[in-house]
Amino acid sequence: MHEMSVTENMLDVVLRHAARNGADRVTRINLVLGEFSTVMEASVQFYFDIISKDTVAEGAELNFRKTKLIASCSDCGSEFEVVEYDFTCPSCKGSETEIISGREFQVESIEIK
Ligand SMILES: [Zn+2]
Repeated sequence: MHEMSVTENMLDVVLRHAARNGADRVTRINLVLGEFSTVMEASVQFYFDIISKDTVAEGAELNFRKTKLIASCSDCGSEFEVVEYDFTCPSCKGSETEIISGREFQVESIEIK
């Protein structure tokens, strides 16, 4: 039921933005979803359809933008895309790396009427 709560949080953010901007209707929700997030698009859509009922966000289109898995090297500071779980820094071959994006799920923007 992981997606149920993340979808509730997402809808919460959307409704707050919509209310603040005096929206009659939310037409589109632009989301950022990391390639390595545990959140499944289809589940978010499924729960969204249920919990957005009778809110201004009912019927809004969900648009997912996928982000790559990006890591940063602790030795030389360079940022690189992780391909096939290879976390070795391509610049200095260091192995002390930290994931900086690719696991997020958040609202990027909304479109309202
Ligand atoms: Zn490096």
